Amino acid sequence: MKRNEVDRSKLSPGMKQYMEIKDQYPNELLFFRLGDFYELFFEDGILCSRELELTLTGKSGGLEERIPMCGVPFHSVQPYIEKLVSKGYRIAICEQLEDPSTAKGMVKRGVVQVISKGTVVDYEMLKGYDNNYIGGVLDFTNLYTITYSDISTGSLYITEIPKDEDKLINTILNLNLKEVIFQKDTNEELINLLKNTYGLEVSISDEYLEDRYESLYKDIKEMRHILGIKHLLYYLVVRQLKELDHIDQVKIVYPDEYLEMDVHTVRNLELFETLRLKERTYSLIWLLDKAKTAMGSRCLKNWLSNPLKDKEQIIKRYNMIDTLRNEFITKEELTNELDSVYDLERLCGKAVCGNLNARDVLQIKKSLSVLPSIGEKISKLGFPYKLTDETKLYNLLEEAIYENPPIGLKEGYLIKDGYNSELDELKSIRSGGKEFIASLEEQERERTGIKTLKVGYTKVFGYYIEISKGQCDQVKDEFGYERRQTLVNCERFISPLLKEKEALVLNAEEKIIDLEYSLFLSIKEEIKKEIFNLKAIARDLAELDAIISLATCADEYSLVRPEILNERRVEIVDGRHPVVERVSKKEYVSNDCMMNEETNTLLITGPNMSGKSTFMRQLAVIIIMAQIGSFVPAKSAKLPIFDKIFTRIGASDDLVSGESTFMVEMMEAKNALINATSNSLILFDELGRGTATYDGMSLAQAILEYVNERIKCKTLFSTHYHELTALEKISGIKNVHVEAYEKDGNVTFLHKVKEGSVDKSYGIHVAKLAGMPEHLLKRANEILKYYEGSNKENPIIAETQVAFNFDEPTPVHSEVLDRLEEIDPLKCTPMDAMNLLYELKELSKK
Ligand code: ADP
Ligand code: MG
Repeated sequence: MKRNEVDRSKLSPGMKQYMEIKDQYPNELLFFRLGDFYELFFEDGILCSRELELTLTGKSGGLEERIPMCGVPFHSVQPYIEKLVSKGYRIAICEQLEDPSTAKGMVKRGVVQVISKGTVVDYEMLKGYDNNYIGGVLDFTNLYTITYSDISTGSLYITEIPKDEDKLINTILNLNLKEVIFQKDTNEELINLLKNTYGLEVSISDEYLEDRYESLYKDIKEMRHILGIKHLLYYLVVRQLKELDHIDQVKIVYPDEYLEMDVHTVRNLELFETLRLKERTYSLIWLLDKAKTAMGSRCLKNWLSNPLKDKEQIIKRYNMIDTLRNEFITKEELTNELDSVYDLERLCGKAVCGNLNARDVLQIKKSLSVLPSIGEKISKLGFPYKLTDETKLYNLLEEAIYENPPIGLKEGYLIKDGYNSELDELKSIRSGGKEFIASLEEQERERTGIKTLKVGYTKVFGYYIEISKGQCDQVKDEFGYERRQTLVNCERFISPLLKEKEALVLNAEEKIIDLEYSLFLSIKEEIKKEIFNLKAIARDLAELDAIISLATCADEYSLVRPEILNERRVEIVDGRHPVVERVSKKEYVSNDCMMNEETNTLLITGPNMSGKSTFMRQLAVIIIMAQIGSFVPAKSAKLPIFDKIFTRIGASDDLVSGESTFMVEMMEAKNALINATSNSLILFDELGRGTATYDGMSLAQAILEYVNERIKCKTLFSTHYHELTALEKISGIKNVHVEAYEKDGNVTFLHKVKEGSVDKSYGIHVAKLAGMPEHLLKRANEILKYYEGSNKENPIIAETQVAFNFDEPTPVHSEVLDRLEEIDPLKCTPMDAMNLLYELKELSKK
């Protein structure tokens, strides 16, 4: 049965109400509250029963056929919502807006919130160490404005990039946006790519929020930024019904203030997840994240996504690490205190737009309890953080909130004795009544002479007097007992006195629960008043935690403070790859990396498995660590500040988008060639391997020459084309190789990088190590001998050197170019164009 095809006039009033609400949320799964359940009807119900493996039932809603229905109990709805949202569904929660017991006619219902991947606030699916961003993209003539927010932490950012779809995709992926809002006319292909290939949620909206949250942009001059904010806020506030009072500031992110890395580089260097398993374990962040709080972890991740370019800021972080290493006792104490700090940022988010419960409030209290002591220490250390005094809030929470509260807010046990006199009074009435009832058993036994008489309680019947079957005949009229229930072995009675006391107790109980709930809400309001202060504290604690984490890494991994140079020189002595060093079972062989100002390129040769790729990654990782303000794995390190890092490493086939290895390789290389400056770092690992030998080698050489002569940035270029080592003649290029030695047909890798080149690949030796069949290896050796014999002269290098010349264009080129310059296509007739084409062709033949 399809929702859109039913005869609405026949529907019951309840289902009519459902239809009206569902009409406003056609793209969401509507969780429709009916008593103790959320029900889903029609297509929503069928889909949910399938996705959640729940029974599909039906409801008679006035139609001949029953309406498909699927329900989940309201108190355990959380995991179901998480499952659906993580699968990419949007959910609209429709609640009863009146108390059904007092409502006249049909209970009023309405959607109170919409939840989607990008706007999750208080669900387990949020990972502490990750932000959960939703972003809006506005398309202006020359650029894109991207406004993004994590509403679970109440942060809001704006950044701008040139109008280039590749860059846009790159930025969206690097920011790890979960959901993106585009304007109506956005390129379909782009949207489909983001949706289908990268699994993002995409929505379309052309609306802008007016008259709310203006304070967020009152100081912003740039109209594009204001529009960006209004565009995102409309979606969050109007479409998703979110409260956003916890967003206290807008941060404008200027991409050129940070070390630029495209999405391939971030992946290739395994900054946040490993290439193969896509897991955080064994990534660089995994290694560096020793933060005690989730806020600290997120801060570190943010630093690692945006390494600095400003020398002063970098040195500030180095200095703080040095201070912490000297004051190691204070550092230990701070570490322990941070252990008591919970995720204040997300707790603030829950207070404003989530379901803050009493346990959360206790977490806030516990976090506040260590602030005075942390504050004292950081001011002694001279760190630039200033935590506001939250003693008043702390005292309130300490006085008010019961130590062991339930998760629910409508069960009582939230508020401590002594906080509110009315509550205390009600509690004493309740306990007085309970005591009286407890003593009633003894009294009634005496009065009636029935020794086995008991007083008990059930939820359904309330308090009762129970008398076993054998003694029922002793019940006399004068007792005033009234029979209520007959069980197998006993009868249950009530008496007027019992009912009177019971009413007292139950009445008090009900009032207690209501009062505790409203007291809790007023305490929540007090917390909300402090939200901006709490968020500022959270930011400072996050940074403190992150810097302590880096200091701990420095100790644990024997890192050294880098020296930042103003000239383009790299001098790393005994550098190591920090992750490989930790993870590999073998002893790690440290390596120097020396490049003076004149050296642009290190051309790295060496057998397979010798450690070329590791050496290249090692340099990039050291640079990135240095620019986030961390110490680095080396004996000593002197480095300039880099502006961008590009990599083309290994076989990172883009399996999802289905492009061939070689195409991906060329696209990544092109990206580097177009965007690199002389202050960039490029890593090209065995470029050209994805195509035929001569093709590959020629391309590799041309690219190498281009980078060395045109871009002149620091470049590591590994190759298995030994012919290329002859290029050392060109200034700026230096040969190094990774050592290995062969004995009795076995090869040993030393992983040591030395000057000069080698000319052996040991491919067959590696095949042997991999356990290939013996006779296959023997055959390969025979073939190799044949090739080596017939190929002694190796003419390749001589030919290609001539073919690739990146000096000024030859005269022929300029003639063609000159002619092209003169042409004004707008003034050409089709005939002219034809003639011109002919002429150009002739020119090019010369
Ligand atoms: P290549 O790129 O030359 O084929 P890799 O860099 O992939 O070699 O390294 C091959 C293996 O050698 C890896 O398993 C790596 O862990 C190990 N390795 C590389 N460099 C070192 C080193 N400096 N010390 C110890 N082991 C290393
Ligand atoms: Mg390699």
